[in-house]
Amino acid sequence: MKRSRKNILVVNDDGVYGAGLKPLARALGQLGRVVVVVPERERSAASHAITLHKPIRVRKLEPNFYIMNGTPADCTRFGVIAMMKEKCDLVVSGINHGANLGADTMYSGTVGAAKEACMLGIPALAVSVTTKEEKPHFDTAARMAVVVAREMLNRGLPQHTLLNVNVPNHPWRSLKAVLVTTLGRRIYGRALSPRTDPRGQTYYWMAGAVPRGVAEPGSDIAAIEAGKVSVTPLKLYLTDDAFLPDLRRWRWSIRK
Ligand code: MN
Repeated sequence: MKRSRKNILVVNDDGVYGAGLKPLARALGQLGRVVVVVPERERSAASHAITLHKPIRVRKLEPNFYIMNGTPADCTRFGVIAMMKEKCDLVVSGINHGANLGADTMYSGTVGAAKEACMLGIPALAVSVTTKEEKPHFDTAARMAVVVAREMLNRGLPQHTLLNVNVPNHPWRSLKAVLVTTLGRRIYGRALSPRTDPRGQTYYWMAGAVPRGVAEPGSDIAAIEAGKVSVTPLKLYLTDDAFLPDLRRWRWSIRK
């Protein structure tokens, strides 16, 4: 028998107090039953880390709403394996408060949580609103997530591929277009700012300013600069196929 109602897992890296969580979970309710599993505190930039060396505790706050002392990727694993009573049809990670463009996707816990879903064989989507401003248009990003999620549920995704969506901080009515993009090139500052603690010891802040980007045509960075929604397909496995033939011609002798 075909199940009509879809089961959707919502995770994030901004944690239970992240302001993008509730608007996303509410909007996805249109598409199916939503289960939320999120970190109990912010875990931005946790990438794809999982917790192996300390106990993991889970707390149920409401029906279908859990928090845990783990990473975003832990939340995906636990959600899919333990909290979802039925098969999980889709994992949506976000809405992140801040852009995940170019190499941000390597550091991002939002993307890490979606990658974990992809590894578990579930279609996954990471959603971010591209501003650090106090009160972003999370409603716009939530509606956009529903548009993308509906397509994913209808069409599926290639194996080992996930989607990374960045939404400009505009009201819904002034969204211009949706562009399918490539990852652009982010430029991070290199500042390591030393300070002195009350005991005279030096400590540091990674003090780089907001990263800049190269707006190559067709890239996610260019789309956002143009005020458009960016949808990038990401591959899980990073082998550089084009370089393989050259690399095979290197001298690999290990004769003793
Ligand atoms: Mn975050």
